[in-house]
Amino acid sequence: MSKVLIIGAGGVGTVVAHKVAQNPDVFSEVMIASRTKSKCDAVVKAIGNPAIRTAKVDADNVEELTALFNDFRPEIVINVALPYQDLTIMEACLKAGVNYLDTANYEPKDVAHFEYSWQWAYKKRFEEAGLTAILGCGFDPGVSGIYTAYAAKHHFDEIQYLDIVDCNAGNHHKAFATNFNPEINIREITQNGRYYENGQWVTTQPLEIHKSLTYPNIGPRDSYLLYHEELESLVKNFPTIKRARFWMTFGQEYLTHLRVIQNIGMARIDEVEYNGMKIVPLQFLKAVLPNPQDLGENYDGETSIGCRIRGLKDGKERTYYVYNNCSHQEAYRETGMQGVSYTTGVPAMIGAMMYLKGLWKRPGVWNVEEFDPDPFMEQLNKQGLPWHEVFDGDLEV
Ligand code: NDP
Repeated sequence: MSKVLIIGAGGVGTVVAHKVAQNPDVFSEVMIASRTKSKCDAVVKAIGNPAIRTAKVDADNVEELTALFNDFRPEIVINVALPYQDLTIMEACLKAGVNYLDTANYEPKDVAHFEYSWQWAYKKRFEEAGLTAILGCGFDPGVSGIYTAYAAKHHFDEIQYLDIVDCNAGNHHKAFATNFNPEINIREITQNGRYYENGQWVTTQPLEIHKSLTYPNIGPRDSYLLYHEELESLVKNFPTIKRARFWMTFGQEYLTHLRVIQNIGMARIDEVEYNGMKIVPLQFLKAVLPNPQDLGENYDGETSIGCRIRGLKDGKERTYYVYNNCSHQEAYRETGMQGVSYTTGVPAMIGAMMYLKGLWKRPGVWNVEEFDPDPFMEQLNKQGLPWHEVFDGDLEV
């Protein structure tokens, strides 16, 4: 018997719920809990399995979470609410003796800043409680780290250069929309860029560095250097890395809208006074933008995310590119959600499966690349995110 509790019923939560339901041999009892219970009920209806339970929970509230955990008694919680809730959910896991998995690292609400220190600080407490916490188990972070661990295990003696490349070549036919929670997405993209080189972090202006990269089955796309959270854990866990960067594609139309949003103050995350009440402009913007969960129906094209790696094997330099392409339409047909939610939700389910099968069970707080990548890579091929490899090609980076 393995009970799983999914927290969050957004785009990613919906995909996790579908994939968990497709694997009843591993997940024998399932509950979806979120701020708005009707959204959890709608997910259960779409899956068509009334045995899946639902509940309302405020994941900012440790007591409420602990009460829910004590009542349902899950073995593991899959946290696909927002990064703001990571620490409260981890606290409640410790109180109720539940294992933990998430897809995005903690961010305080009032500063757009992400780093692992807050969550890594829980390592000793999870160790002492005999509980496992798996951090960043979506696609990126998530599969990007697993690809790197797989490359290190099988194809390199020393990884020296790592470039994570994330392309969304899909078209949702809206003038402007974000592919996941708009507030989290815009906070991430409008920050300074940052990459790791020769033991130091180099900071750039937001979207300052860009180049054209060619993606399989897609072609060349302008790709922008961003800071992304997995870089922090990967350079720590693979200390031979000399340079690590993260690239994401954006179209000109998207960037123009983003610039306007910033210039007119709508990307602000501080409170402003409006008609006698306090509002946060970015949260207000979220309320009027298209809901990422509604993009799926008309979304065509595909995503392509991978790792381009250069390093040494048997004293010789080699390159390696491992990637997945995911079709928005196929993701929608299977789960009712677009490819970005799909590529995040499938790995989150597989991570929980790894824990429940005892393959990734290790008390403490871990990033995904610290576990054996092989059984996870095997499941990616089975669960809808097959991967492909190119050896000794031109990495362009
Ligand atoms: P959504 O905004 O679509 O969904 C978030 C869900 O969490 C909603 O159901 C929301 O409830 C719920 N929620 C928010 N606050 C609370 C709270 N205080 N208590 C209970 N429930 C709450 O986001 P996505 O599904 O797009 O993203 C989910 C997570 O996945 C995010 O953390 C995001 O950063 C991460 N992500 C990771 C990626 C990766 O590759 N690693 C890629 C994409 C996303 P309500 O519906 O009531 O608002």
